[in-house]
Amino acid sequence: MTVLTCLTSGHDLAYLAVAVGVCAIGSFLVTELLHHVRSSSGIKRVNWILISGITGGCVIWTVHYAAMVGFDVPLAHSYDPFVTVESLFVAIVATTAAAALMGFETDSLLVEAGGGLMGLGMCATHATAMRSYVVQADVEWNRPTVAIAIALAVLFGVIFANRLSRPLTRWCRYGAMGAFFVAVLTMHFTWMTAMTLTPDPAAFVPVGVVSDAVITMCVLSLVSLLLVSGWAFYMIDAKSNEEAEARFRHLEQHDALTGLANRTWLVERLDQTIEGRSESGKRLAVLYFDLRRFRSINDVHGHAAGDEVLRKVARRLAGSCDGGFIARVGGDEFVAVLDHFGSIEDVTAFAKAIAEQIGRPILWNRHRFDIGTSIGVALYPFDGRTSDTLMSKASLAMRRARSDVDHDVVYYDTKRDEAIRSRSAIAIDLRRAIDHDEFEIYYQPQNDVRSRRLVGFEALLRWNHPKLGRIMPGDFIPVAEAYGMIPELGEVVLRRACLEAARWPTRFKVAVNVAPDQLSKPNLPQIVADALRVSGLDAGRLELEITETGIVHDQERALDAVRRLKEMGVGLAMDDYGTGSSSLSTLRNFPFTKIKIDKSFVTDVVENPQSAAIVRSTVILARSLRIPVLAEGVESEGAMKFLRRIGCTEVQGFLFSRPVSAEDALGMTA
Ligand code: C2E
Ligand code: MG
Ligand code: MG
Repeated sequence: MTVLTCLTSGHDLAYLAVAVGVCAIGSFLVTELLHHVRSSSGIKRVNWILISGITGGCVIWTVHYAAMVGFDVPLAHSYDPFVTVESLFVAIVATTAAAALMGFETDSLLVEAGGGLMGLGMCATHATAMRSYVVQADVEWNRPTVAIAIALAVLFGVIFANRLSRPLTRWCRYGAMGAFFVAVLTMHFTWMTAMTLTPDPAAFVPVGVVSDAVITMCVLSLVSLLLVSGWAFYMIDAKSNEEAEARFRHLEQHDALTGLANRTWLVERLDQTIEGRSESGKRLAVLYFDLRRFRSINDVHGHAAGDEVLRKVARRLAGSCDGGFIARVGGDEFVAVLDHFGSIEDVTAFAKAIAEQIGRPILWNRHRFDIGTSIGVALYPFDGRTSDTLMSKASLAMRRARSDVDHDVVYYDTKRDEAIRSRSAIAIDLRRAIDHDEFEIYYQPQNDVRSRRLVGFEALLRWNHPKLGRIMPGDFIPVAEAYGMIPELGEVVLRRACLEAARWPTRFKVAVNVAPDQLSKPNLPQIVADALRVSGLDAGRLELEITETGIVHDQERALDAVRRLKEMGVGLAMDDYGTGSSSLSTLRNFPFTKIKIDKSFVTDVVENPQSAAIVRSTVILARSLRIPVLAEGVESEGAMKFLRRIGCTEVQGFLFSRPVSAEDALGMTA
């Protein structure tokens, strides 16, 4: 018999088909299971080695017996049950050992050796199984052909291991399956062609052997059992991997507290939507919103209350805002994306629905919270074409919505929102500036009107920005105020100005501006006392300039601070007099030691009769209160003449000097 005749005439085609089928399915299973061996570790790996060993052994064994049952010989034959079982055992042990070798976490040839062992195992199974075959004939083997069969099994076993463990593409897995399939079948049929049967009616067929039919039954039932269980193992694993992956993806994409999508997923989805959108030209709205009064709930009632509010809001949003995708992107900040809409009115209606949901009272532990929201909207493609721009623009619009008392919903507006952006850029830089000490104090001389002599200086803050150059206080003080950085900044100025003034002759005073936020802090007198103590400056030489807004803020507290400062002997000037609304009553209630008339009235005092009237009446008022008056913004001799005539005591302005550096100021005092 040759290989060809063995295949076509030596076998019953139906059984042959079964053998090939089992071999194909088995190759797939073995490859998949061995793949798990390599991708797991510890006890899990041991289990996968056992499962693949058992499954692989059964596959090899079954293919052999299915083919044997289909092997057409017109001679009486049967199988020795013990050797049959032994061959199954050999198959399983050899395959398990091979699986263990291939499963090693190594890049060495040990892996390929495992493949070779797998091939040898197939051969050993075949050899043992052939021993169980009892036929009324003389059996002879052609050794070179058997050697070829063994070589083929080892070769394809090595290829199998190599493709499985060193994949270059995902197709390599199929290459491995093919190699296993070819190894089993070529080995079997090549080996079979090595067999020559010479009928021998006298040959002894022992009792207790099993027939073809029995062996077929055994083969088929065992095989189906094992294949099914191998398959089940594989499926269970695939399923649990899938579930773990789904769980992981969920965690990765969702916010743990509210269960809403998180920023990562939002950006991913938004990017995808925009990508699909670029051709169609359809619009998209991004709504950025936060919860008003949320922080105070957190502060007053604790985080449990805050968490509950967030959860409730999230539930309401998820349940009611159809058509939109909602994500929590920060503490109390959310983003909703509205994909399909006809007109802007639809977007507004959607935003209003969100506002209404959030606006409904929330009950928690017998407390009732009324929170609201501010919503900023940016539209694709008008306001931006990337998720990044859309979200940052919507968030800028939201900031404006926060300060807008009339509207909850605000659409992005380049002109108005970019101003806010530059403010927040300044705020970020300010933080760094405080840490890196990028500030410098300039000193503007203050002079006596009659003698024109220098009497002191006002300390004025300058920011030497590393990129933007010098920034004037008008551009950053309001930002520092808005971001709560004033107390820290003010303290720096105070300490430095006191230290500087301590270097001047004792007849010169120093005036330092105090912002409303500083005045409302109860520790201001303490800070001032400390600055004086450290610098050694006499309290009488320090004058704090307070504006009316600082007082209106919190009258009680301001009055208290002002009194304590006065007790220390520190001077108190009312800055920018005339620009406030109730300057007169403030003057009466607070123990000021000086009035500074705002420069807006002084610079045009010669040309503008109204300014002149205000300046004149201020001087009269101050005289009656027995406190000196300083006029700011004196730029001309004309103004100077007027001020001297009406009896103003001191002046400050470009006519005498612009603010100068500390060094120059020191020089002026000499
Ligand atoms: P201010 O306290 O009223 O300071 C006077 C401002 O008028 C200074 O502007 C000064 O340079 C300017 N000035 C002085 N003479 C003339 C003049 O003849 N003509 C004109 N047109 N302007 C004159 P600057 O330095 O830009 O400061 C602006 C404001 O910034 C200050 O107004 C003050 O309110 C605030 N500021 C400055 N430094 C500090 C500080 O350290 N802390 C606080 N809280 N505020 C400060
Ligand atoms: Mg001032
Ligand atoms: Mg002023």
